[in-house]
Amino acid sequence: MARKIQAIRGMNDILPDQSSVWLYLEKTVADVVKSYGYQQIRFPIVENTDLFKRGVGETTDIVEKEMYTFEDRNGESLTLRPEGTASCVRAADQAGLLFNQVQRLWYTGPMFRYERPQKGRYRQFHQIGVESFGMASADIDAELIILSAKLWQQLGLLEQVELQLNTIGLASEREAFKASLVDYLTEFKEELDEDSQRRLTTNPLRILDSKDAKTQDVLKNAPSLDDFIGEESRAHFDRLQAILTANGVPFVINNRLVRGLDYYGKTVFEWVTSHLGAQATVCAGGRYDGLVEQLGGKATPAVGFAMGVERLILLLETLNLVPEEAQYRTDVFIISLGEEAEIASTVLAEQIRKANPELVVLRHCGGGNFKNQMKKADRSNARYTLIMGQDEVDQSICQMKDMKTGEQIAIALVNLPEHLVTSLKNI
Ligand code: ATP
Ligand code: MG
Repeated sequence: MARKIQAIRGMNDILPDQSSVWLYLEKTVADVVKSYGYQQIRFPIVENTDLFKRGVGETTDIVEKEMYTFEDRNGESLTLRPEGTASCVRAADQAGLLFNQVQRLWYTGPMFRYERPQKGRYRQFHQIGVESFGMASADIDAELIILSAKLWQQLGLLEQVELQLNTIGLASEREAFKASLVDYLTEFKEELDEDSQRRLTTNPLRILDSKDAKTQDVLKNAPSLDDFIGEESRAHFDRLQAILTANGVPFVINNRLVRGLDYYGKTVFEWVTSHLGAQATVCAGGRYDGLVEQLGGKATPAVGFAMGVERLILLLETLNLVPEEAQYRTDVFIISLGEEAEIASTVLAEQIRKANPELVVLRHCGGGNFKNQMKKADRSNARYTLIMGQDEVDQSICQMKDMKTGEQIAIALVNLPEHLVTSLKNI
């Protein structure tokens, strides 16, 4: 036998028994974002490598070590998108959607990062992103956070996640802080972990994120970003907090929160959970007023966030929060015996589907004896099985078996679609 080809490590198939949870999550998100006036945008999975180098930042983890980059047949360097924001900006700007306009956009789809696969961390994973453009004041930052809180509420997750909030100020404020941080950390260079030593010269803010205990010890007495935040950033942050408080959205201020991507300024936030171990962040975002210009567009204020779909699904499953209606189920299973009954049952199936499009109606295809077909009906977990044979065809009826009680009755075909709908409604 030929050797079977396996999926690529860290890239998962989403199998039929999992896809109903995905559909449930996607539908819930689509309904919530729509109610806030966000419209969907779709862009390619592959972009020019430069888009991410410039958009995400040369010294970020993503660009330094996580991108799937390859040359196409023309020798052009292309990259599988590691995140959506840069592509969203590219697409919206290219279509002229950002010029002196307000936009509320969202997207969903796979992202690719060459990371070490583990629970909640994969090489192909999915994000749902929500981005807004053309609005500079804190009420849009608040709108996005309130929208995400609404989503947690719809999913039953609100009590399971915590909102962490910080302001990382303007670029000039971050520069001053960076210089002071580097001064301080250089003194203790030998005590820092290897990554952090390297970041002293490439991306010192990321050192604040280090998980290394010794590095965290050194950081205890480091200068605080908070002391470098100017009046404008402070006012923006205060306003955001006031709106969240007025809307009953609790938050925790985390002065160490800086986010791994280059494009953020002022507001940054993360929704974290204690149920998923180290992969604690289920949603992350912030303000990125500089990005559109950095990618060649006209300076445009922007705020957005991205959720990790796999982590949200893990969370829903871990906490048993997937509602029963979201699971796949078969309502009606139809079996038939004999050639005429087979044809008649296909017509019956269509009539039932037409009368109630919400019902899941499964017809056994391919014939077989009564016993075998009944076994399949049992296995389908259907609520009702309809049985048609030659006698039923002759009398224009069918047998309807209640699979829970075992009770079986004969019903005239003309009455059947209606009868089924009321029977299923009365369960
Ligand atoms: P982390 O610190 O966990 O690596 P990140 O800062 O790299 O996250 P972002 O780029 O902000 O993550 O992406 C937003 C969200 O996408 C994350 O909060 C997380 O839920 C999800 N995510 C990021 N990387 C992965 C991955 N490799 N596998 C699964 N989900 C991921
Ligand atoms: Mg990461």
